[in-house]
Amino acid sequence: MPFDLSLIDIVERIKSGELRAEAVMEAVYSQINQYNSSLNVYRSLLPREIAISRARIIDEEISSGKTLGKLAGIPVSIKDNICIKDPELSNACGSQILGEYHSPYNATVVEKLLQEDAVIIGTTNMDEFAMGSSTENSFFSPTRNPWDTERVPGGSSGGAAVSIASGMALLALGSDTGGSVRQPASMCGVSGLKPSYGTVSRYGLVAFGSSLDQIGCLAPSAADCRYAFSIIHGHDPHESTSAKLKLSAAPDVAKLSGLRVCLPDEYVAAESFDPDVVRSVHELEALLQKHGATVERRSLDFLKYVIPTYYVLAFAEASSNLGRFDGIRYGIRKQDQPSLKSLYTSTRKKGFGVEVKRRIMLGTFVLSSGYYDQYYGRALQVRAWMEKQVALLFEEFDFILGPVSPFPAFKLGEKNEDPLAMYLADICSVLANLTRTPAISIPGRPTSDGLPVGLQLMGRRFEDHNLLATASAIQELTAFHKLRPEKVFATKP
Ligand code: GLN
Repeated sequence: MPFDLSLIDIVERIKSGELRAEAVMEAVYSQINQYNSSLNVYRSLLPREIAISRARIIDEEISSGKTLGKLAGIPVSIKDNICIKDPELSNACGSQILGEYHSPYNATVVEKLLQEDAVIIGTTNMDEFAMGSSTENSFFSPTRNPWDTERVPGGSSGGAAVSIASGMALLALGSDTGGSVRQPASMCGVSGLKPSYGTVSRYGLVAFGSSLDQIGCLAPSAADCRYAFSIIHGHDPHESTSAKLKLSAAPDVAKLSGLRVCLPDEYVAAESFDPDVVRSVHELEALLQKHGATVERRSLDFLKYVIPTYYVLAFAEASSNLGRFDGIRYGIRKQDQPSLKSLYTSTRKKGFGVEVKRRIMLGTFVLSSGYYDQYYGRALQVRAWMEKQVALLFEEFDFILGPVSPFPAFKLGEKNEDPLAMYLADICSVLANLTRTPAISIPGRPTSDGLPVGLQLMGRRFEDHNLLATASAIQELTAFHKLRPEKVFATKP
C-alpha cells in the first residue's frame, strides 16, 4: 500500500476495489509492529487479527455490491481522552488515575466514524488530561518524534500526530484546548485542524477546559482534514454547546487571489522565535502575494495577554472538571483509608501527575473567594474583549497567518524544568481557542536540519469550510505535506 497516497485517494481506491481494505490494514499494522514500541504511540490497540478481520468484512461487502460509508475500512486512531466502547480498547487520558477505563458509551465523533465504516484501531498517547505541549506529561512515558526520536512530537495529542506521520493510522482524532491538535501536527509534519468551537460535538471527550476544548482531526493533508471534518461536524443534542446553525459552504477549489491576510508582527518579529520558523512563514507570505492575495503586517497589542488569559481560564476549568476523579466513581482507589476525605486525597495524590496537580491547585486558587474577581473574572473580561478585537480584525481580513509554534520539535526533557517556558510555546495557538475560531496547521518549509515547521491559518468562526478550502489550495502549491520521515518508511511493508 503506497503511503504517499492521501486519505481521500485511499478511500476511493478501496471503494472501487482497486485496493483492498485488508492490504491497507496489513500495511498499517506492519508500521505498528516495527515502530510502535520505540515511538510509544498507542495506549490501547486492536489486536492485528481483529483489525484485519474487520477490514476483510469491508472488502467482502464491497465485492458484494454494498454501498459503504465515507471511511470504509480506513484505520483511524483516537486520542486516549475520546471515549470508545470496544472491549479491546480502553481510555486512560494519559493518567494513572483512571486505570484501564472501559467507557460504557461511544463519543459522538466515534459514532460518526463508525457510521462511515471506519475501523478504530486504537487510542493514542497524550499528555495527562491533555495538559502539556510535548506529550512528556503522559503517565505512560513520552511519545517520540519519528523525524528525530530524541525530540518530542509536540502535544498534547503527540500520539495522534505520530500515528499519522509514521503510517500507523490514516486519520487521527485529537483534542485542542490551547493548541494540542495543531502543535503536534506542526512538529510532526502533518495537517491538523482545530474547528470552530461548537461545530464538532464534545460529547464523550473527557473535559479539560470545557469552554476551550474542541475535538479536531489530523491527517496527511489539509484536503484530508476537510474530508474528515465534513464527517465529524454537526449538531449534537447530547451536547449543550453544540451549534445548531448550518456552516457556510465553500467552493471546492478556493481562489487565493483577492484574499486579505493579516500577519501579526508579534508572530514574526519576536526574537525568541526560531529563525527557520519565521523564514517559513515569510515564504508562505510571498507565495500568497504571488498568487494575488494581500498580506498586511499588523501589531496586535492584545497578543501579550493571550497566555495569562488562557492559563487562568484553563486552570480554573480544569480544577473544576477534574473534581470528578475521586476514587469513588472511576479508576483506581486507595483502599483502607480511615475517612472518606483521606480516601479522596490519597487517591488523587497517587493518581495525578505533577503538572495536573499544579493546575488543580492554581485553578482552585484563581476561583477562590477573594481572588475570583481579580483572576478568573478578569480573565473572562479580557477574553470577551479579545473576541471583539478579533471580530473587528476579521471585518478587514479573511485570515490571520502565523507559525503554530515559535520553534520546531525540541529535545525530550529540554523544557521540563521550566513549566513557564513550555506554556510560552502556546503563544500562537491559544488565540483560536479563546476566540472560538477555527485554525489549521499545515506543513511549511522544514528547518535547515530537516525538522517539520507548521504554519497556521486562523479563520472566522463557523467559516471552517472556507479555511479548509484555502489551506488545501495552499498545499496544492507548496506540497510540503508530501515529505515523510524517511526513518520510519525505510522498510517497505
Ligand atoms: N499546551 C496547552 C496546555 O498545556 C494546550 C493543551 C491542549 O490544547 N490540550 O494547556
